[in-house]
Amino acid sequence: MKKKFALALAALMMTGTLAACGSTNTNNNAGSATDGTSVTSETPNVDAIKEKGEIIMLTNAAFPPFEYQADDGSIQGVDVEIAQAVADKLGVNLKIVDMDFNSITNSLKSGKGDFAAAGMTITEERLKQVDFSDEYVTSSQVVVVRSDSDLEGDKAAIDAALSGKNIAVQEGTTGDWYASGDEENTGSTIKNANVLQYKSATEAGLHLANGKADAIIIDQKPAEAIVAANDGKLKILDTKLTDEQYAFAVQKGQEDLRDVINEVIAEYKGDKVDELITKHMGA
Ligand code: GLN
Repeated sequence: MKKKFALALAALMMTGTLAACGSTNTNNNAGSATDGTSVTSETPNVDAIKEKGEIIMLTNAAFPPFEYQADDGSIQGVDVEIAQAVADKLGVNLKIVDMDFNSITNSLKSGKGDFAAAGMTITEERLKQVDFSDEYVTSSQVVVVRSDSDLEGDKAAIDAALSGKNIAVQEGTTGDWYASGDEENTGSTIKNANVLQYKSATEAGLHLANGKADAIIIDQKPAEAIVAANDGKLKILDTKLTDEQYAFAVQKGQEDLRDVINEVIAEYKGDKVDELITKHMGA
C-alpha cells in the first residue's frame, strides 16, 4: 500500500502537480486525503481569488454616494473605493457586477460574485443567508416628501401619518420592509401602505417629485442625493425611523476573505469613509 502510494506520488511529481502547490510535506497527511488533494490551505477563498487574478463585487449602482454610474458610464462611489482597496491588497483586478439590489443576496449565495458592497444594512434576516464584515457606515431610514408637505412629528406620528399612503421605496431594501410595516425587522408601525417598489433610489425620487408617491422611505445619504437632484422640490424630515449599520457581505463561512475585507475596513472606517462620502456626494 505504502509502496503504491509512493509510486503515485512520484508520478504526480513528474507532472509537476505537487511541485506547483509548493508542498514537500505530503507523507504525513496525504494518506488521509480522500479527495485527491494533499494540501489544505487556511485561506482557500483568498487563494482562489488570487489564482483567478480577479475579485468580483456585486452591487446596485443606483445608490449614491455609495455606488452610482458616473457620466463616463463607469461605476463609482464610496463602496467602490473600499472594494478597490480590497482588490489592491490581494493584488487582483476588481470587477463590478451591477444588478437589482433585490438580487444581490441570492447572487452572492450562488457564487456569482465574491462579495457584495451595496450600502447593505446588517439585518437578522440577511445574517441567515450571508456573513457580514465589520460595519463601516451608520445610517438611518428617513422620509423624503415634497417641499410643501407639512408632515412632521416623532416616529410614531410619522408612521401613523404614512399608514395607508403611497410610499415609494427601492425594492428589497430595509426602507421597503419599513414601508411594508415589517415591525420585526425594522420596528415599523406603518399599516396598510401602498408600497411602490422601484429598482433605484433615483426612480423613487422621480415618482415623488411628479406626485405619484406621497413619500419615500430610504437611507439617509441617498435621500440627500435625491433631494439635491430635484431642485428644491423635495425635502427630508428630521425624524429618523431606524438605526442601521452598513457592511460588506461574503458567502457564509468565507472567513479568510472576510478577514481581508475587515482589515481594509479598519483602515477606512471613520475619517476616511467620511471624506469619501463628501467626495462622492459632490460628484
Ligand atoms: N441600506 C439599505 C438596505 O440594506 C439599502 C441598500 C441599497 O439600496 N443599496 O436594505
